[in-house]
Amino acid sequence: MAKKIVAGNWKMNTLKEDAEKLASEVVNMAKDEVPSDVTLIMCTPFLHLAKVKSLTGSATNVFVGAQNCYEKANGAYTGEIAAPMLHSYGIDYVILGHSERREYFKESNAVLAAKVDIVLENDMLPIFCCGEVLDEREAGKQNEVVKNQLEESLFHLSADDFTKVVIAYEPVWAIGTGKTATSEQAQEMHAYIRGLVKEKYGEAVAAETSVLYGGSCKPSNAPELFACPDVDGGLIGGASLKSRDFIDIAKSY
Ligand code: PEP
Repeated sequence: MAKKIVAGNWKMNTLKEDAEKLASEVVNMAKDEVPSDVTLIMCTPFLHLAKVKSLTGSATNVFVGAQNCYEKANGAYTGEIAAPMLHSYGIDYVILGHSERREYFKESNAVLAAKVDIVLENDMLPIFCCGEVLDEREAGKQNEVVKNQLEESLFHLSADDFTKVVIAYEPVWAIGTGKTATSEQAQEMHAYIRGLVKEKYGEAVAAETSVLYGGSCKPSNAPELFACPDVDGGLIGGASLKSRDFIDIAKSY
């Protein structure tokens, strides 16, 4: 069975005090309200990671993730953050290939393959984002685009390594737009993704792979999305900045 996961992508939001307040609220509410079989992940800006990690305390289902890392282990790469650094702070997950990184920082599938490798080499788990832009959806090319992203960035992995990857399907036209994919559109793509994983790695790996939906997910639409058989949870942007909304989404299974 795939793990149920609700991950919050805080993006470039929150000052020091906001981050501490938000993380403490999430940890406290999770204790009382979120079933222990739901994994919660807070993906914060780099500067807040260490503090947020310390605030997770003894919570067993609350984890901390970064939103990116560099593809080299160390060296003269001014301004970058390396996977071994993140690991040394006890960070558990790293989002890779978010559409904003692909668009604004021109991250290619090949660069993302290298980032996936270095995250796994450093005993962290990648949350790998894939998804099509509006033009591609309108041209009926969404399956082709997503297949290409998975093949070029993930399918070089061994089955053993692949089981550590979380996939997040995020139709780019639904991110931060208030426009959610319908549950039919989400289910269709998630089933397609699971089918690709099954073809490549077999049925057992496909069944175990968590495929999250991301794109304007909120408490009001999460129950319908999470009820889809191939949707294992969500990658949440805007709504993860409000502890009440984030926790309510995690209670939507
Ligand atoms: C995201 O950026 O990963 C995301 C899903 O954003 P939002 O929920 O705000 O659409």
